[in-house]
Amino acid sequence: MTHGSSQLQVLIELLSRSKDLGLGDIVLEGATREEILFSGTVEKKELRVTKPEVKFDQEPLDNSKWLETVSEMDYDLLEETAKHCEKCSLCETRNEVVFSDGHRDARLMIVGEAPGAKEDQAGVPFVGQAGKLLDLLLASVSLSRKDSVYICNVLKCRPPSNRNPLPNEIEMCTAYLQQQIALVAPEVILAVGTFSAHFLTGKKLPLGKLRGSTYSYRGVPLVITYHPAALLRNPGWTRPTWEDFQLLRKIMD
Ligand code: URA
Repeated sequence: MTHGSSQLQVLIELLSRSKDLGLGDIVLEGATREEILFSGTVEKKELRVTKPEVKFDQEPLDNSKWLETVSEMDYDLLEETAKHCEKCSLCETRNEVVFSDGHRDARLMIVGEAPGAKEDQAGVPFVGQAGKLLDLLLASVSLSRKDSVYICNVLKCRPPSNRNPLPNEIEMCTAYLQQQIALVAPEVILAVGTFSAHFLTGKKLPLGKLRGSTYSYRGVPLVITYHPAALLRNPGWTRPTWEDFQLLRKIMD
């Protein structure tokens, strides 16, 4: 058995024991909504998708000034501005702004969707069950957020009840993400989940169709993979996910 296939076996074994390991209780926490909805393996009654209770202004926004302002910020100012951000109504319901984890000079940047309940409490991305699996997947290719990865999300604040982000929230918040990418200047970006993949590729295709190729985000190689929360619910995606991490490793080596 090659080293790679033994890693895959370990991953398959882990996912098949995910309930025993306390990884199986996750429902929508941290997963992209589309992944759960399109996974085909989740029964409707299990879903806890909630519709936005409040209607926000959906008029097209001219956010060019905002984009320009953010694009001139250095890292500390960017983080400080995000931590006090009131650009959309998520500031009214969040506990903590979830800006990033890991290293600012990392070669790899991981972009998730939006904070869940645990992240909203901790102010740190991917600290829930999906985060544990993400750490494990990273370890399978000898990477770790402790020393070789920078992690952030498309949205810095938790949407209430993990509802879908609204267009104005995305427009305002992705200014931070774009500047994070510019300042961290990673060698590779890994988009986890449909929502992040859609934003970074600009293509609104199902994740299963997007993954498996290398894209470019403003000149930076971009790899797409399933969201770890979705993987927990769909162990059949273990091999493609493992292949995505191998592709990532290959680009970095
Ligand atoms: N899911 C995400 O996409 N991001 C997090 O920070 C946590 C869960």
